[in-house]
Amino acid sequence: MKIEKVENVLAGRWHFVRITADNGLYGVGESGIWGYPEASERIVDAWASYLVGQDPLRIEHHWQYLYRNAHFMGSAVGGALGAIDIALWDLVGKHRQAPVYELLGGRVRDKVRCYLHVGGRTANDLAADAAKAVADGFTAVRFTPFRDDFPSMRYGGLLEEAIKRVGAVREAVGPDVDLCVEIHRRMSPMEAIGLSRELARFRPFFLEDPILPDSPRSMGEVQKAIEIPIATGERFTSIYQFRELLEAGGCRFVRPDVCIAGGISHCKKIAALAEAFHVAVIPHNPLAHLDRGLRPDRRLRAELRAPGVHGRERAAQARAGRRAAQARARLPARAGDARDRHRAELRRAGAHAVQAASARHPAPRGRVGRGPVSRS
Ligand SMILES: [Mg+2]
Repeated sequence: MKIEKVENVLAGRWHFVRITADNGLYGVGESGIWGYPEASERIVDAWASYLVGQDPLRIEHHWQYLYRNAHFMGSAVGGALGAIDIALWDLVGKHRQAPVYELLGGRVRDKVRCYLHVGGRTANDLAADAAKAVADGFTAVRFTPFRDDFPSMRYGGLLEEAIKRVGAVREAVGPDVDLCVEIHRRMSPMEAIGLSRELARFRPFFLEDPILPDSPRSMGEVQKAIEIPIATGERFTSIYQFRELLEAGGCRFVRPDVCIAGGISHCKKIAALAEAFHVAVIPHNPLAHLDRGLRPDRRLRAELRAPGVHGRERAAQARAGRRAAQARARLPARAGDARDRHRAELRRAGAHAVQAASARHPAPRGRVGRGPVSRS
């Protein structure tokens, strides 16, 4: 079996990838970078010329090749990798006629606990919405403790409002329901510590993204200063970022998103890293359709069956086709060509141990890659 086609479907802010094999089987994946979907679309275009002709069963190999081959990192790369990885797992699951979870080690749970995100303009509205969620069977609710006009509020008023809202929810749902408080990266470390000390009396289950997540060290300083467990990681894209977060003691829950953190393959590794730190995993899922198991709507399903049949997407597909043709002109047609070129470049640079490194890992493209060749 060989990969025959790699297609993008850009539908508004959603970016899907469909990978088709020469036997007609196909898999669908999705990137979660909804703020800049064209960015991951462009990356998938560039990678298509490598993927076409490859064996789709070698998912880990392709993941490593594409990650090391690119000199760049971040959300667009993580989203593109995620879309390809999910599509390949989907395809391989169909080929093996097995659910993907059986290919990953088998079913672990019979059911998964969920929270519902609740809201309301006032504290009373919020409490009523939380009570309704509990009446519907949810044992945990998530909400923001701020009003919509929080940017114009002073720190003291902000704290008072947060205390009122979290207190109202606790009173409405009782002691047996977990409260997940989402801060959406809105506070400085000092403010987050002050807020957490005020909210601790309501025993929140976790405080999500109290500060900007960019610095694991800062998140670690906040976590060490407060009692409420922190949940974070929804913007992270690699095991390296999660490792630093965990080493800094930055959270009690990691929240990787399969559509931005390199797909199913990479998120399984992130979960293993967290396990080694006694940190639990609460998968993040609002970035895309596929990572929360939602069925795309009718129009989108039609697109996925026959990409490019609708007006706006047809134009996008035409653009994508032109870009793919340009990318193919720039990139080597196959991975072997890239490796040969890379070896020649390394020889010119006087590098050594290329054979051994190449045997262990796919070689990165370019003079100085981020792979094992340049590190040895
Ligand atoms: Mg969040």
